[in-house]
Amino acid sequence: MYIMDVPIKTNINKKIKYLAFIKTYGCQQNVSDSEKIENVLSAMGYQITNVKEEADFIIFNSCAVRKNAELRVFGNVSQLRKLKKKKPNIVIAICGCMTQQSHIVKKIRKDFEFVDIIFGTNTIEILPKLIKSVFLKRDIKNKKFAQNFKDINFKPFEILQKTDISIENLPCKKENKIKTFISIMHGCNNFCSYCIVPYVRGRELSRKSESLLQEFEKLVKTGCKEITLLGQNVNSYGKTLDKKISFTELLRLLTKIEGDFRIRFMTSHPKDVSKELIDEIVSNKKICKHIHLPVQSGSNKILEKMNRKYTREKYLKIIDYTRKKAPELSFTSDIIVGFPSETYQDFEETLSLVKEAKFSSLFTFIYSKRKGTLAADMRDNVPYQTKIQWLNELLKIQKNISSNFYQKFLGKRVRVLLEKEKNKKNIAFGKNSENLTVYIEDCSEFLLGKFVQVKIISQNNRVLRGKILHKNS
Ligand code: SAH
Ligand code: SF4
Repeated sequence: MYIMDVPIKTNINKKIKYLAFIKTYGCQQNVSDSEKIENVLSAMGYQITNVKEEADFIIFNSCAVRKNAELRVFGNVSQLRKLKKKKPNIVIAICGCMTQQSHIVKKIRKDFEFVDIIFGTNTIEILPKLIKSVFLKRDIKNKKFAQNFKDINFKPFEILQKTDISIENLPCKKENKIKTFISIMHGCNNFCSYCIVPYVRGRELSRKSESLLQEFEKLVKTGCKEITLLGQNVNSYGKTLDKKISFTELLRLLTKIEGDFRIRFMTSHPKDVSKELIDEIVSNKKICKHIHLPVQSGSNKILEKMNRKYTREKYLKIIDYTRKKAPELSFTSDIIVGFPSETYQDFEETLSLVKEAKFSSLFTFIYSKRKGTLAADMRDNVPYQTKIQWLNELLKIQKNISSNFYQKFLGKRVRVLLEKEKNKKNIAFGKNSENLTVYIEDCSEFLLGKFVQVKIISQNNRVLRGKILHKNS
């Protein structure tokens, strides 16, 4: 089904105003999916609210990457029981990565019977049908609303877990945003042994470059200044397409579009980083000088058990090659602490890699066992308390490294995209090309959404403050 089938606003009975609340958990991919959900709901006539209690439709877009995320979703869903008792007419839906797993769906059905709709990651376009089916079972007022939809008989409590997706057909309604995302591919083929993503998001599938180019051009024309290309492993973009195209070629294509904008992308997998790609990032002015390159561990033994398909030496070589060409380019990374069979010696290798790589920031995670993954069958020999100690040790070391990285920008002139007028003190902020946040005092609201030249006047840990030099640059 294509989005054109969704009834548009004008069909809706104007007297009935329906409010929708969307809560997003997890990664940028989910943020991007929630944006699509918002577009679908708006097309149906819903208005979006930030207040859960006043909503008629509540949807949780869930994350399954770590157990903590799952527990948070369950905790928040459980709190809806009271609300549903008070307002039995609300429709509650759960979607996203968690609902791609049958044991989770079973649990939701058993423990949270008040949830009306469950659907997976790749089926956003059928949401109107699902909502309609719930409305049709309710009172006259609700039924009237539902009559505006096409007559399709879907059972309530529909569970859809399809992983073959119609990836080109969701609308792009993102005008007037300063920055936004585009998913260039879906799914993942890598099967890192700890990771649930390939199971819940399905196989890797790239979107056609022609369709991306169109969407990208439209965004630039509507004034978007920063677009982040999303995928679980953007470096392998194009491999599933008939018309072969590499990620580097895609970057070249998109940056040829006229206009003052910049591109970010995530996530890159170290196994697929080529010199050609680095050369393009370094030399192309429209590509931000930041690479998120998750390393996960500094120990070759652990990397092999994780099925990451690179060594610490190869990883550090990428960093070395890049830094020789662009010393200030910022690398960020993800690290998992306490993987099954990890010893303190293995962890020390992670510490030494972190010291060598000098990341500007690090995202650190304690290993979380995910049912159905290869690592779930490995013996997890590291006590939880030990994992926490290791994590703290890592964070302490990284804090200094980050601070030193940020310090390099003190006194320098940087180009910042102003994203937000902030608080009462009138402090605005934006990011530079390296993805470092810069706070600016006394910034006029007219500069919001503009690139400005800023001189960095102070630095404290990861806080940079700056002064505007020129309004347009
Ligand atoms: N596709 C991206 C990452 C997706 S998940 C990549 O390959 O880099 C984001 C991060 O969550 C991962 O990089 C990893 O550090 C962390 N992560 C994934 N599964 C995890 C698990 N089972 N336990 C702890 N951290 C995990
Ligand atoms: Fe998960 Fe690995 Fe795929 Fe990233 S590359 S999503 S960590 S399986």
